Amino acid sequence: MIKVLKFGGTSVGSESALRNLAAIVKNEPSQKALVVSAMSGVTNALLALTRDATASNDRFYGELLQRHVLAAKPFMASNQLDDLEMKLKLRIFGLRQTVDRYLSDHADREALQDAIYSWGERLSSLMVASILKARGLDAVAMTSEEAGIAAVGSPGNGAANLDLCEKNFLGNVLPLIEVGRIPVLTGYYGADASGRPLTFGRGGSDYSGSVVAYALDAKTLEIWTDVDGFMTADPRIVPTARTIHEMNYGEAAELAYFGAKVLHPRTIEPARKRKIVVMVRNTFHPEGESTKIHELRTPGNELLRSVAVKSDLSILKVYSSEIVYNPSLVTKLLESVSGDGVTTYAISTSLSTLAIALPSGATQRICDKISKMEMGLIEKVKIKDKVSLICTVGDDLINRMGAAAMIFDAAMEAKANIEMISEGASDVALNFVVPSEQANDVVMRIHERFIASREG
Ligand code: ASP
Ligand code: MG
Repeated sequence: MIKVLKFGGTSVGSESALRNLAAIVKNEPSQKALVVSAMSGVTNALLALTRDATASNDRFYGELLQRHVLAAKPFMASNQLDDLEMKLKLRIFGLRQTVDRYLSDHADREALQDAIYSWGERLSSLMVASILKARGLDAVAMTSEEAGIAAVGSPGNGAANLDLCEKNFLGNVLPLIEVGRIPVLTGYYGADASGRPLTFGRGGSDYSGSVVAYALDAKTLEIWTDVDGFMTADPRIVPTARTIHEMNYGEAAELAYFGAKVLHPRTIEPARKRKIVVMVRNTFHPEGESTKIHELRTPGNELLRSVAVKSDLSILKVYSSEIVYNPSLVTKLLESVSGDGVTTYAISTSLSTLAIALPSGATQRICDKISKMEMGLIEKVKIKDKVSLICTVGDDLINRMGAAAMIFDAAMEAKANIEMISEGASDVALNFVVPSEQANDVVMRIHERFIASREG
């Protein structure tokens, strides 16, 4: 029975974190593979590198090397450290070549940028494997290319081809695990059909963990991060928020998408397909609370498991007498949003209007684009800023009689006008949009009424 352990940026980001990581891996008796993120801050630095071409200087690469060498130093003898340093230097040379190509070559910019972003994981995986080796474990660093994480899609928004990954892993990764070795794989990206790196979007290493668990037909995926699992609400808004001990895949997927930044939203898909149990655990508090995501058979008796809020949204309202009569118009409108790579958080339609909740930063751009299309068909476009989406999640929520009435009653208590509603699409979520000014109050009241008073 194979276990996949994924360690996030902060979990590989410091000496103390790496100490805990090594202990966690050592104490795990199962056959296993690791998936790692870049050290915290490294992906951001790579992003900055492509924004500011002049940042590409010796100092930058020197610091990148030092960060990894210094973190590994306390764990190993000097000859082992020299060996790691040499491997890191070679990788950094590869990064440098990619950056130089990016700076001189004006074609393929997005693909080259994405390739640059993938470099942090290529460094951290080497470092983690060396540390584990120094601790007497038979670890082996592997890139996504070497393992065969096949990806499709566009730069920054890749997704794995799960069947192909599984096939590749049978030849490249499984045989190592079967003889007791521990592959340490790069998270965050895969390789497309022509071998080019394609990242899964920010925070994508969680998804990589799930893809690897699928490809190895693992029993469990442990996501090691810096919080005690999923919480019933954001503790900065609701001080009485607590860890959710168990939830089903659907609930976790909704929460990851709409609020809690605990997991990359796509993480659940591959795990759910194979019913792989996903544990979210805290590297800095390994004996503490955690969340178990699996196929729960007995629905909880509480109405809601969690309430999240997504702020900095706007509502874009498109008026056209053709909305109901001309279905292709709705398709075109939505395409103009998705074509821009913008996430839609809620949609609702009426006879003559279409309302879409979008990230505020993108709304004006989409509004301008829509105003120009289908001349004559669109009567006007309006924007309402400063709104937040409240996402309430509960097992089988859709079949709970009166749930909406009770939840909206709590919103009314907070004197929040409900601007948009999305219900019925998901079995486990009821989402609605309120003015941002009242959003925290709504969250607190919902938490108080339906969650705080129940057993976890
Ligand atoms: N290193 C990537 C990021 O910072 C991927 C990840 O950490 O999951 O977004
Ligand atoms: Mg993360």
